[in-house]
Amino acid sequence: MTMQRETPATCPYCGERLLLLIDESAGEQRYTEDCQVCCCPILVTVHMTTAGGFDFVETRREND
Ligand SMILES: [Zn+2]
Repeated sequence: MTMQRETPATCPYCGERLLLLIDESAGEQRYTEDCQVCCCPILVTVHMTTAGGFDFVETRREND
């Protein structure tokens, strides 16, 4: 079953608030998503708790 969660995040390039759609059932993951405002490629890392639930999402510039 797919469990998607809308999670607020901040673009590391333009500072705008974004809503990311996280697939919790996929566990820890890292992917690139273009900013909805400035279109820069954001490196998104999804962190899970030890219990396997969603913990927090981290956004970084792609070349950091
Ligand atoms: Zn942006």
